Amino acid sequence: MLIALRRVGVKGVEVRKSDELDQISALIIPGGESTTMSKLAHYHNLFPALRDFVKSGKPVWGTCAGLIFLADKAIGQKMGGQDLVGGLDCMVHRNYFGSQLQSFETELHVPKLAAKVGGPTSFRGVFIRAPAILEAGPGVEILADYPVSSDKSSTLLSSDGTQQEEAGSREKVIVAVKQGNLLATAFHPELTSDTRWHSFFLKMMEDNGVESSFGDSTTEEA
Ligand code: GLN
Repeated sequence: MLIALRRVGVKGVEVRKSDELDQISALIIPGGESTTMSKLAHYHNLFPALRDFVKSGKPVWGTCAGLIFLADKAIGQKMGGQDLVGGLDCMVHRNYFGSQLQSFETELHVPKLAAKVGGPTSFRGVFIRAPAILEAGPGVEILADYPVSSDKSSTLLSSDGTQQEEAGSREKVIVAVKQGNLLATAFHPELTSDTRWHSFFLKMMEDNGVESSFGDSTTEEA
């Protein structure tokens, strides 16, 4: 992610401690494994500061596990669930697309991304053990969704083995959203050479009054 940020002219810094959050103007919560991230966030007592950061209105972008972290509700968890930062009025299934073996790439239809930062109306989404948003509140703008065939959806969901009944069957799931200053993507934009989601996030920072453009400003990663 830091390398992808450099490609759009922004120097990011890694954030590991809560007081480091005071020094940054925007935050990216990257992919990984959300239960591990949750344990680490507890260990380092990061949850209060992360929740304050989200509430402050500063831009926050969660990708993949980061999306799960930002959601108000997650299903598909193992025993006991996990704590979330919350703030994003969505219900996510944390392993909707199944395991590592079911990781895939696909062309997403992203007219709103193209309208904001230019380029084609498609974007190559890299999904790795990816979550999906199953329900989004009224204040959530949908930037990309993904069609699910009923066969595929039931096969993939059964691989997870937890809380499937809530996941239900549906024709499509949501994979990118914006809610105020929160951006969330279920896929990994930093793994493609197309940097438009990063540019989109920079525009959110600029809209928020942060001078992000190609200077010495910083975007950060927790
Ligand atoms: N499904 C994973 C989780 O629960 C996220 C995968 C990812 O970030 N690539 O955390």
